[in-house]
This record gives sequence, structure tokens and C-alpha cells, in this order.
Amino acid sequence: MEIIKKDIRALTKEQLRDFFEKNGDKAFRGNQVYEWLWNKSLHSFDDMTNISKQTREMLEKHFVINHIKVDSMQKSADGTIKNGIKLHDGLVVESVLIPTKKRTTACVSSQVGCSLDCKFCATARLKRMRNLNPDEIYDQVVVIDQQSQLYHQKKLTNIVFMGMGEPLMNYNNVIKAIEKITSPEGLGMSSKRITVSTSGVPKMIKKMADDEVKFNLAVSLHSAIEEVRTSIMPFNEHFPLDDLRESLEYWYEKTKRKITYEYVVWEGINDRNEDVKALIDFCKYVPCKVNLIEYNPIDDGQFQQASSSAINNYISNLEMHDITVNVRRSRGKDIDAACGQLANKS
Ligand code: SAH
Repeated sequence: MEIIKKDIRALTKEQLRDFFEKNGDKAFRGNQVYEWLWNKSLHSFDDMTNISKQTREMLEKHFVINHIKVDSMQKSADGTIKNGIKLHDGLVVESVLIPTKKRTTACVSSQVGCSLDCKFCATARLKRMRNLNPDEIYDQVVVIDQQSQLYHQKKLTNIVFMGMGEPLMNYNNVIKAIEKITSPEGLGMSSKRITVSTSGVPKMIKKMADDEVKFNLAVSLHSAIEEVRTSIMPFNEHFPLDDLRESLEYWYEKTKRKITYEYVVWEGINDRNEDVKALIDFCKYVPCKVNLIEYNPIDDGQFQQASSSAINNYISNLEMHDITVNVRRSRGKDIDAACGQLANKS
């Protein structure tokens, strides 16, 4: 009878140890294989050099190692690299390497497509096809770390969940991936250098606080006025600002970690004084900082970056109220690798 092969990386270390014990080997063999699979990111059982040939053949009979493949790679003039990543079932997501002087950041996807419908985001035009598995998220980080070392001679320093998808709608897998990314048996990166960006799912923000996660939280706010936010991020109707605010207060109370608000200023949408004032009021609830993100146009011209005087108006007013504000220049725009431009054009 033919054995239906399982994805070996869906097994926990305990399950791998059990597998070896049940097959008349030492449980310790599970630890060795686990290390090859995660820490060394091997694609083939044959390369597991401290495992006997017989054992490798046995593994081959029972399991597959599903690995992502870099399907396409584009390099921007500013050093940003956008990867089209093919998953084992043929679907494609995008992951981006963003180098700066001080750090190199991986921007990773958490879903194929997205179930939210933010009007200004290219990914929103693809409907959500499926969640990524923990190993598919982990592998994106591995690939980008390798590219960082190859093209920029330095290791990856930061990870942001700002690629395709809404990470809090795939919470369990994102958490499992982060556990592996931060574990010494995986990549051993610090949670402090990981940021999960959400459009704001209050129930899940509270859950993260309860789970005492150690990474950073960014919220794509874009407006602190209910009607305006709903018009550009329609799901806001179901997760209104009061609920979001309450969940953020809960987060801060439990974690004592500042929140970052991501905010794009668009002409005729949120560039009035009352928009600025609403943001300043919203910022008073919880210790936070604001990242003003440059708008990356997505074809249809419905949204336009506000004038520099409107943006300066935001900056000066926020600063006047002692709110830290950074202006985030967009990266990789020439190859559609910037925020909100990830949409598998190919
Ligand atoms: N779903 C998550 C993460 C993906 S979007 C979230 O909403 O946070 C990553 C960031 O890019 C978010 O802050 C999002 O609001 C922003 N973004 C989306 N489209 C954009 C665009 N066209 N230009 C600039 N930023 C955009």
C-alpha cells in the first residue's frame, strides 16, 4: 500500500521525537532532524549528513519537505528586492527585502490575497485565497535573510508583517512562525525586531495581549474619524474606532509597549485640520508614535498623496502635542514593491 506522504514540517519537535521512537529509533533523532529542517532550512533528506542512509530513506517514504520557491525576483534602484514566492500548491505571494544604512528588513506576507477591502491597497483587489502555513511564513524570512547576506553582506535585522494579507486573520500560524523565527532552534532573531501590522481587529489585539506576545504592534489607522475610516477601510463598520481604542488600551495595560500608527495622508480625504485634530485626540489614549507613510499609487487615480503643506501640517501639530512622528519614504516603488503595491502583477 502506498503511504500518503505528510508535510514533515507540520510536525512539532515532540511529534517528530515520537515518530522516531515508534519506528524503533532514538527520540533524539527527532531533535537532529528538527534542526536540519528549521535551523538549517534543508530542502532534502539526502543532505542530512548525520542521519543514516537507511533512516533518510525511511523519512523519504513517509514525508515531504514542502518548500517555497523564489519564482521571480526584481531589484529596485534603491536596493529593495521584491520576490514572487511560489508555494507548494502553485499560488504566489510576495516578500520584500528593504535595505537601509542601519538595518535590513524583511516585509513578509501572511495570507494569499486578503479578506479586507482597504480601498487604497492593491492586495485588497485579490480575494483571500488561503492562509499561509507557519513554514511558508518562516521560509520567506529565510529566503530574505539569504538575499540580504548575498547582496548586502549583512544579516537580516528586522521583520515586518506588512506584505500581503491581514496577519491577525491568520493569527495561529503567524504566532507559530514567529515562535520558530525567534527560537534558537530556528533563526534565533529577537522578538523586539519583529512588527506585526494590522488594520485593527480588536478581539485579536486583546488576544495578543493575553498571550503576552513580545513583538511590536503597528496599526494601520489612516483616519481617526469614523465615517472617513469606514469610507476607505470598509471593515471599520464592523470594528469601530471605539472598539479599536479599547483593545489598544488593553494591549498597553498588559504589555506596556508603545503602539505605532501607520497613516497615509490623501488629498481630499484626510488632509483637513479636523482630521489632524482627530488623530491627535486618538493618540492621547495610549502611548504611541505615528509613521506617516508615503502613498504608493495603485493605478486608478482615486487616491492621491496630499500636498506637502498638508503633511507638514500633520507633522507640526503632532510635534506640538509631543507625539513622535516619522515620515516613511517609500522604497522599491519602481518595482511595485512598496506598501500596498503587492498584487502579483505577473
Ligand atoms: N493588513 C495589514 C498588513 C498589510 S498592509 C495592515 O493593514 O496593516 C501594510 C501597510 O501598508 C499598512 O499600513 C497599509 O495601510 C499600508 N498600505 C496599503 N496600501 C498602501 C498604499 N497604496 N500606499 C501606502 N501604504 C499602503
